[in-house]
Amino acid sequence: MAVVGFDLGFQSCYIAVARAGGIETVANEFSDRCTPSVVSFGSKNRAIGVSAKNQQITHAHNTVSNFKRFHGRAFNDPFVQKEKEKLSYDLVPMKNGGVGVKVMYMDEEHIFSVEQISAMLLTKLKETAESNLKKPVTDCVISVPSFFTDAERRSLLDAAQIVGLNCLRLMNDMTAVALSYGIYKQDLPAPEEKPRIVVFVDMGHSAFQVSACAFNKSKLKVLGTAFDPFLGGRDFDGKLVDYFCAEIKAKYKLDPKSKVRALLRLYQECEKLKKLMSSNSTDIPLNIECFMNDTDVSGKMNRSQFEELCADLLQRIEMPLLSLMEQTQLKVEDVTAVEIVGGATRIPAVKERIAKFFGKDVSTTLNADEAIARGCALQCAILSPAFKVREFSVTDATPFPISLLWNTEAEDTEGVHEVFSRNHAAPFSKVLTFYRKGPFELEAFYSDPKGVPYPESKIGRYVIQNVSAQKDGEKSKVKVKVRVNTHGIFSVSTASMVEPVKSEDSEDVGVETEVESQDQRPIENSSDTNEKKGDQPPEAKKPKIKVKNVELPIEANLVWQLGKDLLNMYIETEGKMIMQDKLEKERNDAKNAVEEYVYEFRDKLSGPYEKFVCEKDLQGFSALLTETEGWLYEEGEDEAKQVYVDKLEDLKKLGTPIEMRYQEAEERPKLLEELGHRLQYYATIAGEFRNKDEKYIHIDEMEMMKVEKCVSEVVEWMNNAVSAQAKKSLDQDPAVHSSEIKAKLQELNNVCEPVVTQPKPKVDSPKEENPLNERNDYKTEDMGEDDKNSEMPQQNGECHPSDQNTISMDLD
Ligand code: ATP
Ligand code: MG
Repeated sequence: MAVVGFDLGFQSCYIAVARAGGIETVANEFSDRCTPSVVSFGSKNRAIGVSAKNQQITHAHNTVSNFKRFHGRAFNDPFVQKEKEKLSYDLVPMKNGGVGVKVMYMDEEHIFSVEQISAMLLTKLKETAESNLKKPVTDCVISVPSFFTDAERRSLLDAAQIVGLNCLRLMNDMTAVALSYGIYKQDLPAPEEKPRIVVFVDMGHSAFQVSACAFNKSKLKVLGTAFDPFLGGRDFDGKLVDYFCAEIKAKYKLDPKSKVRALLRLYQECEKLKKLMSSNSTDIPLNIECFMNDTDVSGKMNRSQFEELCADLLQRIEMPLLSLMEQTQLKVEDVTAVEIVGGATRIPAVKERIAKFFGKDVSTTLNADEAIARGCALQCAILSPAFKVREFSVTDATPFPISLLWNTEAEDTEGVHEVFSRNHAAPFSKVLTFYRKGPFELEAFYSDPKGVPYPESKIGRYVIQNVSAQKDGEKSKVKVKVRVNTHGIFSVSTASMVEPVKSEDSEDVGVETEVESQDQRPIENSSDTNEKKGDQPPEAKKPKIKVKNVELPIEANLVWQLGKDLLNMYIETEGKMIMQDKLEKERNDAKNAVEEYVYEFRDKLSGPYEKFVCEKDLQGFSALLTETEGWLYEEGEDEAKQVYVDKLEDLKKLGTPIEMRYQEAEERPKLLEELGHRLQYYATIAGEFRNKDEKYIHIDEMEMMKVEKCVSEVVEWMNNAVSAQAKKSLDQDPAVHSSEIKAKLQELNNVCEPVVTQPKPKVDSPKEENPLNERNDYKTEDMGEDDKNSEMPQQNGECHPSDQNTISMDLD
């Protein structure tokens, strides 16, 4: 079973896999460990990742990037509308009000939901992991920004479902980083000791996230998280773009913002410039050839100018850090280390700000690009039964406080209770008790909407159905279990009505017990919340009686939930697109094979193959090659795969004999020489035997005659072959093929070798010299054999995934 972690970044993705040897970040088909979060649509297929990014400027309208943050949002969400202005492709509303991407694909207009676009990216990541692991990938852990709300998380899970990925956990970016930090640490304080506090900081392309974690041996607990979801590397790029746009306008009278392609090029160049400024404080030039209207533009910038330009962005770094310390009640002195990850933390001024805040140097012990993916793979290994990983418990924190709202029956007023406070441990379940005579509704919402970077504070509405009054007309006790699950998603997971039963009704009856938390943590039973509102049931003070719990159906109405039908349609569409990409790849491969053959053969015909083709054939074949080349660029440019396959066959009919003659001529002399040597060798032994040489005296006369006969037959065969071949020119098919020489060599060895290598019989030492000799001799021989065996490679002790059900991982 494959174990995989995906860091689904705004700009780029990383994939880590677990193997018997440990965690490994794997590379894509371009040998790059970074796969850009870009999907490009063409008239025959899709390009995803590196190849899509390469088309970003030439296919600007049909190349989709920067889409991660559209998950779980409405098209008319202010954030989406603001982003829309900066995109080179079209955003449109979906039927359900969500964000759709309008592109030309297969020469037709298509609208894909953001879930579908992310699913496409996941398809690429899944394929990359599969080709590295050489087995199918289903179970995985995917990273999410810790500030993602339920709607965003659910939307991402839908994307995973579209490509058949079983996401075992949506893991908060910072928690994944903390896990990849902590699990390798051997020197963490014992469980009863004061934990080691480490702050993790990530600035990626779109967001800035921080978290404080407490580490003890074998466990980590996220104490708190804070973020600026709108501060990332791209904002620094944006500052540079604005600056150079103004400069280009003044200097060249050109407006880069008026042309998508020019603006995209400027963004790319500014990003490069930004990166260069991280390692260089001198002036760095910016040159773009044929930028607009055939004009070359140029400019320059240095680090201190850049820092001045980005002063407001740099200033924003402190806010989340302050918020983190305030929430967690930590002082900077409590923090043992500040670990930074994420591409944009390479900006020196960003690093400096963080270091200044904590009054200590930041640490870069983790791989800034790969730590999240590695943490996700570790989490996947922990959750997967296929791997045995060192015990390590991860307790996350809820980023936003969540409350429940309900109507009280008695006074027709509303009750509210904060079920999960900010930074409450997660995953976690709680049981709430209500007293009702009929079905009732609960509404979950984020109780601090201002702190949530999402316009909708509502999470969902849940109707607890089939509730009825007790037989005596009194209110029934209804237990509702609410949960923040392993993905960080809130749910009203179960509801049951507690019915008292007469003791003779013994089936399905039990003494009332509290519903057990799946997380094995104590349950906060929040039944008092209702009691506060005056819904106190009369039977609450009665002594314990036998009860049974009747499961109640829950109707959930969630913000942004894809329907089953739509999801199934997306699954089917993605499957078709994968198939189309595969067919197109095969077609292209077939075409490339023809093209490659033409070029390779033409080169070789005027080089190594020249002597192996007669003048007439050479002319005919050269003409066919030239004709095929022309055909490839004209009428044969866009043909079905079989047409290319047939074309290659036609070429091979002429090419293969030439190739064969060349290869035969290369191999023949070497093989003949080897055969000659062997003949010489056996003939010499036969001669020595005839001369009564000590070495061969033990060989039987008849046996040796077989050797002599075989040698003379093969000598004759070889002489005939050599003289027949001498009559052939190089452009004719050979008189003797190398396969025949190999067979002869084999035949010779098979006959002669067993005879000439016969061991000499042992000469026993006189018995009186060593009475134990006979047995000892045998013993010595046996032990010799054993010794030999012991030199054989031992079966090594490594575990192989195919041998065992569980794999021990070496994490050190
Ligand atoms: P997010 O975390 O927002 O989803 P992401 O994970 O794709 O995005 P990263 O790969 O962590 O983002 O970081 C990408 C950002 O880091 C880009 O803005 C990139 O320009 C920037 N970056 C990378 N290297 C450097 C560098 N040497 N100097 C400055 N910035 C850099
Ligand atoms: Mg990231």
